Amino acid sequence: MAVKILTEHINVPGINTFDVYRKMGGYAAVEKALKKMTPEEIVEEVKKSGVRGRGGAGFPMGMKWSFLAKPEGVPRYLVCNADESEPGTFKDHFLMREIPHLLIEGMIVSSFALGANKSFIYVRGELMYVIQILEKAIAEAKAAGFLGKNILGSSYDLELVVQPGGGAYICGEETALLESLEGKRGNPRNKPPFPAVKGLYQSPTVVNNVESIANTPWIVNNGGDAYASLGVGRSTGTKLISASGHINKPGVYEIPLGITVEDFIYADEWCGGIRPGHHLKAVIAGGSSVPILPANLILNLANGDKRLMTYESLSDGGFATGTMLGSGGFIAMDETSCVVRNTWTFARFYHHESCGQCSPCREGTGWMDKVLERIEHGKGNMHDIDLLVDVAKKIEGNTICPLGDAAAWPVASAIRHFRDEFEWHVKHPQEATQPGAVYRGA
Ligand code: NAD
Ligand code: SF4
Repeated sequence: MAVKILTEHINVPGINTFDVYRKMGGYAAVEKALKKMTPEEIVEEVKKSGVRGRGGAGFPMGMKWSFLAKPEGVPRYLVCNADESEPGTFKDHFLMREIPHLLIEGMIVSSFALGANKSFIYVRGELMYVIQILEKAIAEAKAAGFLGKNILGSSYDLELVVQPGGGAYICGEETALLESLEGKRGNPRNKPPFPAVKGLYQSPTVVNNVESIANTPWIVNNGGDAYASLGVGRSTGTKLISASGHINKPGVYEIPLGITVEDFIYADEWCGGIRPGHHLKAVIAGGSSVPILPANLILNLANGDKRLMTYESLSDGGFATGTMLGSGGFIAMDETSCVVRNTWTFARFYHHESCGQCSPCREGTGWMDKVLERIEHGKGNMHDIDLLVDVAKKIEGNTICPLGDAAAWPVASAIRHFRDEFEWHVKHPQEATQPGAVYRGA
C-alpha cells in the first residue's frame, strides 16, 4: 500500500473538526516545531525533502524559502495560494474542504520557519463555503492555543487571515495575487524582484500552494530524508492528482510520484480505465496550461519505455519547457473528443482571462481564439494552422507572466500531434461541423 502523506486520515468521520484531527495525531508537528526545533532546522528539513511547488511550477520549496530576504525590522509574510482555478484542477479545494486543519497546521509550522507573524490564505472567491470551513478551523485552532499570541508558551505569535479571491484566473499568479491582496486590480508584476525579496506591501514574502504547505507537518514529523526517500529522482514525495474526463473513476488521488501514467489510468486503485467500449485518445496531464499528449506517447512505447507521473517525464518534446505534471489536473480523453474543439475551448478561456498588460498575450490569445473558432466552424484555411503555430511561438517567453506560455503551449502541441485533425476540419467543413462530429483518422 502506497504511503499517504496528505490523505491517510481523509475518510475518518469528523476529520474536519479540531478534536478528531488532534486525536489522529494532528498538530504534533506544531508542538515539535515550536518546542524542539529552530526555524533554520525546519527550513533545512524542507530543503532535504526535495518537495517541489505543487501549484504547477514545481520550483523546489526549500530553495524558495531560503531565498526569503530578512532585512532588519521589516515584517515577512507567508501567503498560501488557494486560488486554484486551473481547468481540470480541484485537489486544493478537496484538501481544504475535507481536512482543513492539515493546511492550518502547515501554515503554522511554515510561518514559524519563515519568521512570519501574520500569514494569509487567499482562497478562490467562488469557494465561499470553503472559506467558512477554514475560518471555523482557524477559530478552533485558536481556541486550543495553536494560533494567536504566545503559541504553546513559545513566545511565537501568529495571526492567520483568510482572504476571498477576486474571481479572476489571473489572481492565482503569485504577484497578481499579492496585488489583489493589497486591494488593487490583480495585474501580475514584473519579476525580478521576486516576492521573496519584495512581495506583499513590498516586504519579503513566500507564496506557496495549499498542497505544498500541507506537506510540511509530515516533513517536520518524519524528517526531510524520509520524504525524499519517496518518489523518483527529483520528483520526491507524493502528489495529489485531480483526475477527470473519460475514465471510470474520476476523483482526487494521492499517488506516489513515479508510478506509470498507464497504471494511473488503468489500475483499479486509481482511475480504473477508460469508460467501457472506448479507448484513450489523449491526455492533458497537468491542467490546461500544459501540452496535450496523444495516447501513442503514453502507451506501448518503443523499447518498453514507460512514461511516469513525475515532473520530468511528461514533456512532449515540443518547445514548451515547463514542468508538464503542472498542477496535477489530469484530463483523459477518449476517441469521442474533438481536439480542435477542445483547443478552441482552452484558447477562449485564456483570451478571456488575459489581464491585457502585455501585447503578445493580449493580442495573441485573441488571434488564437478567433482563428480556432473559424477552423472549428468550417471557415478556416490551411494557412490558419501555421498561423496558429506562429502566434503561439511569438507569445512564448515574451510576456510578463506565465499565462502567455500557458495559452500558447496547448495550441502548439495540439497542432504538433493532431495536425491531421485540424486539416480535416479545413478540408471537410460540412462534415466537421455536424453536431458531435469527430475526426476518427484517415
Ligand atoms: P515560476 O516558475 O515563474 O515560479 C515558481 C516560483 O519560484 C515562484 O514562487 C517564484 O517567485 C519562485 N522563484 C523562481 N525563481 C526565483 C528566484 N530566483 N528567486 C526567488 N524566487 C524565485 O512559476 P509560477 O508563476 O509560480 O507558476 C506557473 C505555474 O502555475 C504554471 O506552470 C501552471 O502549471 C501553474 N498554474 C496553476 C494553477 C492552479 O490553479 N493550480 C493556475 C494557473 C497556473
Ligand atoms: Fe497579463 Fe497575459 Fe501579460 Fe500575464 S502574460 S501579464 S495575463 S497580458
